[in-house]
Amino acid sequence: MTATKILIVEDELLTAMSLADDLEAMGYEIVDTVTSGEEAIQIANDCQPDLILMDINLAGSIDGIDTALEIRQHLNIPVIFLTSYNSNETVKRAQQTGSFGYLLKPFKVKEVSTSIEIALSKYQEELSLRQALASAKQYSEQQLQSLAIAAHEFRTPLSVIQLSTDMLKDGGDKLAPDKKSKHFERIQRSIDSISQMIKDVLTVGKVESGELVCNPSPLDLDRFCAELVSVCQIHASKLHQVTYQIQYPDEAAKITPNLDPDLLLAILSNLLTNAIKYSPQGGEVNLSVTCKSNNVTFEVQDCGIGIPTEYYPKIFERFVRAENANKIKGTGLGLSIVKNLVDLHKGEIKFDSRVSEGTKFTVTLPYLL
Ligand code: ATP
Ligand code: MG
Repeated sequence: MTATKILIVEDELLTAMSLADDLEAMGYEIVDTVTSGEEAIQIANDCQPDLILMDINLAGSIDGIDTALEIRQHLNIPVIFLTSYNSNETVKRAQQTGSFGYLLKPFKVKEVSTSIEIALSKYQEELSLRQALASAKQYSEQQLQSLAIAAHEFRTPLSVIQLSTDMLKDGGDKLAPDKKSKHFERIQRSIDSISQMIKDVLTVGKVESGELVCNPSPLDLDRFCAELVSVCQIHASKLHQVTYQIQYPDEAAKITPNLDPDLLLAILSNLLTNAIKYSPQGGEVNLSVTCKSNNVTFEVQDCGIGIPTEYYPKIFERFVRAENANKIKGTGLGLSIVKNLVDLHKGEIKFDSRVSEGTKFTVTLPYLL
């Protein structure tokens, strides 16, 4: 373990040196011993000690309390005051600096070391609290951002619904039956897309709050994938052929693996939907499954528009959509959900892509107990 680094700020040099010797003998590292506030600010900046022992009466133009205040504005270092002053006013001023301790001279070195340990643990608690607050703040900001973006995304399908209902209401009697059914289809598609968005935003929320858990159970993988692929084929256009193979390179691997069917369904359907969606010219979309003895690999390959390299580092982030995809509908939530679900299943995801040639996403999931 590295020693706790301490800066001593004390105008009585003899007191400072003897305190430094005693603390060093107890295993602390004394980064420096200085007599003025100006020097203390400089050394605190340069050496970033873990804690400062600060006399209130100092050489130089500022006292220990103002020095502590100045240091606290830029650096988060706990300060313990060592002083012969115990007037109410001085104690009050010292408290206002957010000090971590106040020791009256003369003190025993054991008292100093106890105060140091209490101050450090109080400081650690303060740090953890700050971190917890920061991540709670970040979480609620992300939720707000999701809501704002989702609300924005709702506007397109909602205006389609508005337009089609207006047409049906105002000109319903005069509309030809095929025109009418087109409007009903549009309304239905818009409702589907709003429900999908709500589902996605809720899934993101569940993953982030830790509400979603992995529940593995024995799964007939071949049947599961074959069914999923046939559903995808129904939803794909006539231009797409959704194909599927499963292989067992090792005969012994022909077992019923333990996987979470809900997570797997969300992962594969997102990847297959993307593969279909981002190959608007049609072509083959293939799901290839390789079962080994302790894990399974899924490869989803398309020959679509591809992902430009500049998007590689952020493609799993929420709401990131590549420029070449802007004519195709989407919210940019699918892959971030997939990544979270793969992590939840203790698996890995990677991809390989070439613009205008195609993309392959590879997910490897371990069989869980
Ligand atoms: P949705 O939330 O409806 O899934 P989306 O498809 O835009 O919206 P993601 O699935 O997260 O969002 O994908 C993010 C982006 O990654 C897409 O907008 C697209 O630019 C790119 N992308 C994903 N899969 C492919 C793919 N198979 N081929 C080309 N680009 C892809
Ligand atoms: Mg998607």
